Amino acid sequence: MSQGHAAVVGTGPNGLAAAVTLARAGLDVVLFEAASEIGGGLRGESPFDPRIVHDVCSAVHPMAAASPFFREFDLPGRGVELVRPEVGYAHPLDGGRAALAHRSLDATCDALGADGPAWRRLFAPLTRHSDGLTRLFLSDLRHPPTSPADVVGALRFGLGALRGEPFRGEEASALFTGVAGHAVGEVSGLVGNAVALMLGHLAHTSGWPLPRGGSAAIAQALADDITAHGGTFQVGHRVTDLGELAGFPLVFFDTSPREFLSVARRQLPARYARALSRFRYAPGAAKVDFLVSEPIPWANPEVGRAGTVHLGGTRAEILRSERLASRGHLSESPFVLVVDPGVVDPSRVVDGKRPVWAYAHVPNGDDTPPIDLVRARIERFAPGFGDTVLEARGITAAQYEIHNPNYVGGDIGAGAMSLRQIAARPTLRWDPYTTPLHGVYLCSASTPPGPGVHGMAGYLAAASALRRHYDLRPPSLTARP
Ligand SMILES: Cc1cc2nc3c(=O)[nH]c(=O)nc-3n(C[C@H](O)[C@H](O)[C@H](O)COP(=O)(O)OP(=O)(O)OC[C@H]3O[C@@H](n4cnc5c(N)ncnc54)[C@H](O)[C@@H]3O)c2cc1C
Repeated sequence: MSQGHAAVVGTGPNGLAAAVTLARAGLDVVLFEAASEIGGGLRGESPFDPRIVHDVCSAVHPMAAASPFFREFDLPGRGVELVRPEVGYAHPLDGGRAALAHRSLDATCDALGADGPAWRRLFAPLTRHSDGLTRLFLSDLRHPPTSPADVVGALRFGLGALRGEPFRGEEASALFTGVAGHAVGEVSGLVGNAVALMLGHLAHTSGWPLPRGGSAAIAQALADDITAHGGTFQVGHRVTDLGELAGFPLVFFDTSPREFLSVARRQLPARYARALSRFRYAPGAAKVDFLVSEPIPWANPEVGRAGTVHLGGTRAEILRSERLASRGHLSESPFVLVVDPGVVDPSRVVDGKRPVWAYAHVPNGDDTPPIDLVRARIERFAPGFGDTVLEARGITAAQYEIHNPNYVGGDIGAGAMSLRQIAARPTLRWDPYTTPLHGVYLCSASTPPGPGVHGMAGYLAAASALRRHYDLRPPSLTARP
């Protein structure tokens, strides 16, 4: 029997996670999606060859593999195979040098030579406390850990983040800073260290997997579950006014604060609207999809074993290019992330042709065509790469926002990850998913725990609404009947 009605605006992983939770609790859920396809940051496209899928946004899923929501939802149990490379991420340097983060902490430390013991001191305690740390960092960030073991884990984590990068050699230092680069624009301080520790230790636990066939498989599994529980989708429908959803007692916005403001400005109290309009966005991403004729010819062939490759040069070079992007200047050698899914997923390679996914950190809203910039960056560490390129398509930071209004100016994190915006995301409220409007919730990556494909913002927003409006606990998410 239906418990009531709910609308979800946006079908990224958080919108879908909210809808799964609500539909399983017995609500009639309708999802509205501006794009012609569901999935948000999980969408795939075939721009060059209909048989070859390119991930438009996310490609690698350490967060989905570790997320309490996805663990209970059980992606493998629903046929989504998460393929784990033995080398989670790699960081090539000039002269054919490279540092590699293996799944095995021992193998990583052995290969890092003199810095191996420091890598172990930093990451070994985190791998031991990984479950508790993941629960803490993928939470609403309002509830401290309760078990003594989790408190110890959190303290070890905090000390590591405060101490920062402890390495003497360029290789380990660059390997660490490359992961910190995921904190776009906040690489060198406490936030960058915390991101490096969190994502970095996952490479040694649940891994940095890629879904076989591409990220859209995750969106499809979520959508199938929503449909099986009575939910329906309206694609190609951008909600532009909250009044459109007047018939729904519960409404969830899987959108940026800016989009929410434009949809609900008339109804929102002026003070809250002002607070939302002060939300800051980070530097942008400019993406290039390459279709290539062979695996990337890395100067150091070991790099070709990695699921993800960070191209930024030394720590000093990364900090310099990130500082430039934050200040609105395009670096001639930006931080670039590269993924060749064919390394772990042979189904992505058709007749020898393979997709390569790469994006550069650039100033917010930058509209410089990125193909030459990114190709040159890969070429520096993989001479001859340009000769393997069959086709290429560039998406500027400015264009990302057209593709998805959540990525303001190409900010793929849906809001800067400054300390202030971690505590108050998107504004300062005890329950960060609520808004001053009764029954209206925010649930995108602009709410805790922030960016990445983990579904936790959607799940926690839905759990909050079920508790407040129906006095219900979150339903079981398991695939088993
Ligand atoms: C280039 C790129 C690479 C990335 N790589 C990774 C990665 O490898 N791993 C990882 O974990 N994360 C990655 N991310 C980040 C990840 O994709 C996002 O953090 C995640 O998708 C956020 O999920 P969400 O549900 O909050 O929003 P989104 O996935 O952005 O979805 C929001 C949806 O809402 C829709 N929408 C917005 N406004 C409206 C409206 N008014 N009406 C109707 N619909 C609306 C949008 O069209 C969109 O479909 C990447 C992102 C980008 C852009």
